Amino acid sequence: MNVRTLYHQNGKVEACLCGKCGRIWVSFESAERCCKCSYCGEFCDWRESVAHLACQDRALRESEAKALEKAELVEGYDGPFFWGDRFCLDVDELLERADGAELPEFGFCVAYQAPQLNYADIVENVASEMHEDWEPNDAPELEKAIELWNAANAQNGTYFEDRKRKWSRADLLRRASHSEEDTREKSKEEDRQQGELER
Ligand SMILES: [Zn+2]
Ligand SMILES: [Zn+2]
Repeated sequence: MNVRTLYHQNGKVEACLCGKCGRIWVSFESAERCCKCSYCGEFCDWRESVAHLACQDRALRESEAKALEKAELVEGYDGPFFWGDRFCLDVDELLERADGAELPEFGFCVAYQAPQLNYADIVENVASEMHEDWEPNDAPELEKAIELWNAANAQNGTYFEDRKRKWSRADLLRRASHSEEDTREKSKEEDRQQGELER
């Protein structure tokens, strides 16, 4: 931005200077790009950051919205959910924490990943450090131990936002109201049975 060009004695361009932060660039184009927000192109001091925070936020929201639009809609999805910094196991828990009206129209599903050691990967990793036609000697106990480790850690995994799948608010609320009806029906039924017993 506001490029100042430094010339050699022979008249050739020696370097270009960003007129805002004083950084030296080899080409005019680079110096011209300096101190411009990489999103909106307006002034942004590159000594602080190469883009405005607000522009970065907007870009992030836009890319999220795009991913959400592309994600496959899962009817009947029942959780888990991330709501703010909360983790909700199912729709009921989500609706306990959030008013239905607060929910966005769509949200990403949440997937679970268990930690897994893989015998072949471990051996391959070691082999890459060895000579070219190196072959490991078998140790079936290790494979068994890895299986045990994987089983011991099966529930010790991580939940993460699955950006390929989404739920819809309409679907969640429809099913939540059905399950409320079910509960009402059930308690009516229980009342009736109770009545019959008392008779
Ligand atoms: Zn600059
Ligand atoms: Zn900007």
